[in-house]
Amino acid sequence: RAEVSKYKRILLKLSGEALTGDAEFGIDPKVLDRMALEIGQLVGIGVQVGIVVGGGNLFRGAALHEAGMERVTGDHMGMLATVMNALAMRDALERSNIRSRVMSAIPMSGVVEHYDRRTAIRYLTSGDVVMFSAGTGNPFFTTDSAACLRGIEIDADVVVKATKVDGVYDKDPVKYPDAVKYEQLSYDDAIDQKLGVMDLTAICLVRDHDMPVRVFNMNKPGALLNLVVGGREGTLIDR
Ligand code: UDP
Repeated sequence: RAEVSKYKRILLKLSGEALTGDAEFGIDPKVLDRMALEIGQLVGIGVQVGIVVGGGNLFRGAALHEAGMERVTGDHMGMLATVMNALAMRDALERSNIRSRVMSAIPMSGVVEHYDRRTAIRYLTSGDVVMFSAGTGNPFFTTDSAACLRGIEIDADVVVKATKVDGVYDKDPVKYPDAVKYEQLSYDDAIDQKLGVMDLTAICLVRDHDMPVRVFNMNKPGALLNLVVGGREGTLIDR
């Protein structure tokens, strides 16, 4: 059966933590290989894939600040961490023969390309996976905000946020077995009920620009492809 994608272009947000897998610290190459496989399935059916990777597996500005470091310096380290993750992801994609590019919001000549929206769209149109690293390039933001921002900028059909659970629940499903999953949620409900799906800056951005967000479980094999072909996967946040 030939799968037909519901979306032409997506922005996939991968958290840094997701890359750690069973490793004690940093990056588990086995996890990256599995993700590359899943991303390859999308490319295989003609979906244009942009990716924003987090850096929480390595450094988080807020955590470094709590430990005594200046916040902005911590955020700069966090953004650099996302570049490292993107390089590792590119490595995995290339090993799976998936053409990919890494762009950075902070210029880093000789390592990765500087982010340029029109160039990114050209790459996407030609079938390359494009990773947007270094977040927004600014301290005090998160990579969720970066994902929403880039998703809107590249005119993606949807922002897809990978998590460890099956979607958005009314309370933490890991702690509470009776937690109920939402099939669909409005931006305002996500904000009012303080569900912690994404930070406020990120949700307000997608709300203001009517960008749908789908939250799904990346640990579930095949879930990414399923949602892209229109399967009922995770939680849809929209108007
Ligand atoms: N960060 C930042 N500006 C951005 C995006 C990220 O300063 O636009 C920093 C921030 O310190 C953050 C870290 O990079 O804690 C890693 O990103 P994030 O915590 O969003 O990663 P994730 O939780 O997705 O792994």
